[in-house]
Amino acid sequence: MSTKACKKCKRLVRGDKCPVCKTGSLSDSWKGKIIIIDANKSELAKTMKLTDSGEYAVR
Ligand SMILES: [Zn+2]
Repeated sequence: MSTKACKKCKRLVRGDKCPVCKTGSLSDSWKGKIIIIDANKSELAKTMKLTDSGEYAVR
């Protein structure tokens, strides 16, 4: 199964819809993977305004 990126929160999703947004609005053409392990301690997470750990697409 291919990995897709949620168009709303940019979270990488394996499946038909985003488990966070509950939306089926996913993109196949994402680039760059960011893995946030601890959103509270990650400068990158702050920059990207991510509040939850997980895997995200850059765009
Ligand atoms: Zn989402």
